[in-house]
Amino acid sequence: MAEEFEEITHCQMCDAEFRVGRQGNEGNYIPRYHLSVCQRCYDCNQVGWSPLYEQKLIKHCDEHHITLPDRNQSGLLPVE
Ligand SMILES: [Zn+2]
Repeated sequence: MAEEFEEITHCQMCDAEFRVGRQGNEGNYIPRYHLSVCQRCYDCNQVGWSPLYEQKLIKHCDEHHITLPDRNQSGLLPVE
């Protein structure tokens, strides 16, 4: 019997492990930032990226030549 495709990956924001595979994806890929993040980060930052992760995000965008989007009404960078 073929094994289910499954892979352990790391959240690019908080470094938590999560599984991706045919059974479902525990994380989220954010095309705008080319980022894979865990569900928790995705859910917790719906109002905008927490200042806790913002520096990481800005550095990531800088390194990958991604243009940062405009800040939202809360002055935060949108999650996606
Ligand atoms: Zn995370």
